Amino acid sequence: MSLYRKYRPQKFKDLVNQEHIKKTLLAALSRGRIGHAYLFAGPRGTGKTTAARLLAKALNCPHRNPEPCNRCFSCKEQIKLSSLDLIEIDAASNRGIDEIRELRERIKLVPSSSEYKVFIIDEVHMLTPEAFNALLKTLEEPPSHAIFILATTEPHKIPATVLSRCQRFDFTPLGILEIVQRLKKISQAEKIKFDKDGLRMIAAAASGGMRDAISILDQLSSSGKKINAKMVQETLGVVSERAMLKLFESLINKDLDLALEALAKIKEKGYNLIHFREMLLNFLREVLIYKISSASKELKDNYSREICQKMMSLSSQIEIKELIRMIKVIARDSLIEKDTIPSLGLEIALVELAGEKQRKTKKNKEQLKNFPELWRDFLQKIRPYNHSLAAIISSARIIGVDQNQIIIEVDYDFHCQKIENKKNLIKVEEKIAEVFGRKYQLICRVGKDKKAKNLKDIALEVFN
Ligand SMILES: [Zn+2]
Repeated sequence: MSLYRKYRPQKFKDLVNQEHIKKTLLAALSRGRIGHAYLFAGPRGTGKTTAARLLAKALNCPHRNPEPCNRCFSCKEQIKLSSLDLIEIDAASNRGIDEIRELRERIKLVPSSSEYKVFIIDEVHMLTPEAFNALLKTLEEPPSHAIFILATTEPHKIPATVLSRCQRFDFTPLGILEIVQRLKKISQAEKIKFDKDGLRMIAAAASGGMRDAISILDQLSSSGKKINAKMVQETLGVVSERAMLKLFESLINKDLDLALEALAKIKEKGYNLIHFREMLLNFLREVLIYKISSASKELKDNYSREICQKMMSLSSQIEIKELIRMIKVIARDSLIEKDTIPSLGLEIALVELAGEKQRKTKKNKEQLKNFPELWRDFLQKIRPYNHSLAAIISSARIIGVDQNQIIIEVDYDFHCQKIENKKNLIKVEEKIAEVFGRKYQLICRVGKDKKAKNLKDIALEVFN
């Protein structure tokens, strides 16, 4: 028997997370306030089918308190999945009107040995419109013994008329820590050797789905070896957190070369890029949550200490606005990705995030860093041309530097006139271009701000 089946929760209390759902259902069972139709919506592997079976079992258990007893005939039949009063239908393969008609016939039959006949319709959004209509008719006038539990990963595809007949429960994705705890319990019970990082990586690879996580554990444990991070990485092709950090860092630094190199390495190792993008988005989401609320425990729970510290220091170097843009650009669904070159979508995202700015600022940044030296060089060069002009410019204060202009301030009008003398200005700007390797316009103004700034401060100012 698979680990997943073996450890499928047999009581509501063993169902991981979904606290509000457990509470509401148990309260309804206690009070005997049973609805005729339930909708369990939520991502894959979050416990919808498990909860549906638990509800079915509890409903038909004469000894429920309100958990099912798991010992009576009805409970045992249901655990074996051989109860005649629990009917599970996979809408993905029974989506037509005929199946629903047949279902309607079966609904009329009274339960064989229990109080209720429970119908679980999995992936209900797959039904055809005609089948939905037939289902709706049943839901409008259900026999008193019939209870429907509809499960779906895509509730938005269900007609409003059907939705309005159901009590809806939304299942939330499981956190990595919750999955790890469950994996740990199972591993201990099965005497599977593991370390925490290994389990954490399995949980991350399962992206919030318990079933996938347990199946992976099942698969890995069959080797009999200890499950650690390296083994999980090698077997599943899970991208290492380090590789992801490296990519994140290169995006923050707008270093396109490094970003593409990191991606190439990830590709080279044969990782699934669609999966990688999911992991990257999850990672960025956690950085965002951490930035919004530093008290967030999630980051510390989900990553090793080393990774966590690095992540926190990197996160301080990026603005929330930019982080959101990063998430949006990477999340943007790329059609290219599905059809042709798997990495193209991500590559375009990286170029968009790291490339544009690089082209604009790389040279500029370098120059601004060296501004004080370059300015001194320029003063040297202008001196032979005109000593007094050089002296005036030397005494001027630099007010600002941007892409195209250097703005200076002098104390006297005649200084300004001297600099702005057409012949002088041409020479000055020529020398600036020579030294800086690009054209700047020199703007001169007369000012009272006598507080001279030193060049280092200016460099810092413009650099920031
Ligand atoms: Zn029972």
